[in-house]
Amino acid sequence: GAGAPALVVSGAGKRYGGVQAVVDISLELAPGERMGVIGPNGAGKTTLFKMIAGDVRPTTGAIEIFGRDVTRMSTARRARLGVGRTFQVSNLFRDMTVLDNVRVAARGGTAKARVFWRTQGLSDAVTQSAFEHLESVGLMSRRNDTVANLSHGEQRQLEIAMALVGEPDLLLLDEPAAGLSATERTTLRELIEQLPRTLPILLIEHDMSLALGLTDRVMCMENGKHVVTGTPEEVREHEKVKEIYLGRR
Ligand code: ATP
Repeated sequence: GAGAPALVVSGAGKRYGGVQAVVDISLELAPGERMGVIGPNGAGKTTLFKMIAGDVRPTTGAIEIFGRDVTRMSTARRARLGVGRTFQVSNLFRDMTVLDNVRVAARGGTAKARVFWRTQGLSDAVTQSAFEHLESVGLMSRRNDTVANLSHGEQRQLEIAMALVGEPDLLLLDEPAAGLSATERTTLRELIEQLPRTLPILLIEHDMSLALGLTDRVMCMENGKHVVTGTPEEVREHEKVKEIYLGRR
C-alpha cells in the first residue's frame, strides 16, 4: 500500500540439503532508498537475491513488497506488482536485435504499465517505452544491432533497460558489474547513478567500492549470516568487514 516500505525481508533463511546458504536475514528498503548487499563468494548474496526475486522459496521467514506478502508468489506475479530485476546469468536473446529484446522484456512489465500500454495502443506504446529506456542506458544508437555484436558492458546496459521497461517501482540488480572491465564499470556506475532517485534499488555486488559508491545503506553478509548494516562509511570502517575483504579485492 501507499507509504509501505518497498521491501521487507523478515528472518529469511534458505537451506539446500545440508547447506544453510542464508541464515535469518532481515532488511527493509524505504521508498526511494538504494541499498547494497556485499560479501565474499559464498556469503549467500545470490540466494538472498533469488528469494527476493522469487526464484527460490525461503525455508524460513517472509518477504513483503509494497506491503504485500510475496513469500509464496511467483516471479511473474512479483513483476506485475512492481519488481524489475536483472539476472546473474544473462537473460538476453543473442540473435535478436537490442530493440526486440527490450520489447520482449516489456511482456514482463508491471500490471500498471501493461494497462497503460493497452490504453495507448499496445505495440506503439511498448516501442515508445523501449526507446526511452534504451536512451536512458545509452544504447539508442545500437537498437537495430544484434545482441551478439554488443560488448559485455553494453549487454549489461541492455539488461538494465530490460529491467526498467516494465516501469518497476523496485529494482533488483544482481551483481551488475561482474566480469566487466574498469571502463565498463565506470559506465555502468554512471548509468545506475542517474536512475530516478524515487526508484528504490537493491543491489547485490561482490565489488565493495562499487556497492558503497552507489547506495545509501549497505548490508554485509558472510557465511549466510548478517555481519553489519550501515552507511557506506560505517560499513567500510567496520572491523569485521575489513577483515573479510582484506586481500580479497
Ligand atoms: P557468489 O558471490 O559466488 O555468487 P554468494 O554470496 O552469492 O556467492 P550463494 O551463491 O548464495 O553465495 O551461495 C551461498 C552458499 O549456498 C554456498 O555455500 C553455495 O555453495 C550454496 N548454494 C547455493 N545454491 C545452492 C544450490 N542450488 N544447491 C546447493 N547449495 C547451494
